[in-house]
Order: sequence, then C-alpha cells, then structure tokens
Amino acid sequence: MLTETPPRKANRAEFLESDRIKTLDLPQNGCWKTCAKAIESAMKAGTSADVRRACADFLAATSEFYRTPTCAVRVLAARPLRVRENWATELFGDYNPETMLIRVWMRTAVRKEITSFGTFLSTLCHEFCHHLDFQRFGYPDSWHTRGFYERTAALYHHARGTAPKRLFWVPTADGRWRIDWPRTNRGA
Ligand SMILES: [Zn+2]
Repeated sequence: MLTETPPRKANRAEFLESDRIKTLDLPQNGCWKTCAKAIESAMKAGTSADVRRACADFLAATSEFYRTPTCAVRVLAARPLRVRENWATELFGDYNPETMLIRVWMRTAVRKEITSFGTFLSTLCHEFCHHLDFQRFGYPDSWHTRGFYERTAALYHHARGTAPKRLFWVPTADGRWRIDWPRTNRGA
C-alpha cells in the first residue's frame, strides 16, 4: 500500500486531515460481522445475486451507522475493462462518487482466479471508505492517505472479527508513504 502525493494547493488541508484521522467509530455489536459472514457463505455456496444481496446488507448497515446515504453495490463476475481508479492495488473494486455506486468483482482480470473472501471484504471496506470520505467527512476528493488505509483496516478488522494490526509506515523518496510489511506483520 502506497499513499498519494499531497496536492500542492487546492484541497491540501483536507488531504492532511484525511492523513491524520486514523480511527473510525465502530459499533458495539457484532452486526457487521454477521453481515460479513453472510458474504463469505454466499461466496462459497451461493450465486452472484446472493453475494450482491449480502454486500448490500453489509453496506446498508455501515451506511446507517455512519448516517450517510446508502451506497449501491454491483457484484461483477470479472473486472470490467474500464476502471475508475488506476491504482495497482485497486484490482478488485471501484467507487463512483457521483452515483455512489460501489462495484466489486469476484475474479482477477488476468488469470481469472476467484478473489479470496479476505481480499473481497477488504476491497468492499476500501470502497466504502471512499464513500465515507465524500459523504461523512465532506471531502471534495478521496485520497489514499495513511489515515485512509488505517480507517479501512479498522473497518475490515471489525467486520472480520480479527485483531487490528498497527501499521508501520516508511517515507518514500518522493514524499509518499508505504507500509513496512515486515514490521507491520511483526508488530514492532
Ligand atoms: Zn481506492
């Protein structure tokens, strides 16, 4: 995971705020976990309509909790040719801020392998965090900042019921940040 370069002038303050906000309020109950489990079961045994329904339930629950409009979701069999984001890490989904539509796909583009549940859920959380940037934080854009990735991870771990990891970042030569995976996995 690699962050974006901060904008030089316009929206710089919002970018820096997005970089700083590393946590999200999370519900006290296990309702998102139940929704996530339903997605997992649908991926294993259901049709793509079942997966879509389970994703829609998950997003309805998260949207309600954060008091944003509910975003729509489309589950595609394979990655479409045109993808809004051209990030190397963004292989499994996208979000359109105008239509508030999340698209996720179940197969990788090149080798047509089935996306794992973990990757699929993490993509859904990632795209939902783009929705939050526009609809909850009111940012004019949604950047991949350190804070953005931290918020996505908080959402993901809560939904999956796994312990959140502390993310360790290292600066790159061009003023961006990337995750130090060895340190992050070691936890120190
Ligand atoms: Zn993204």
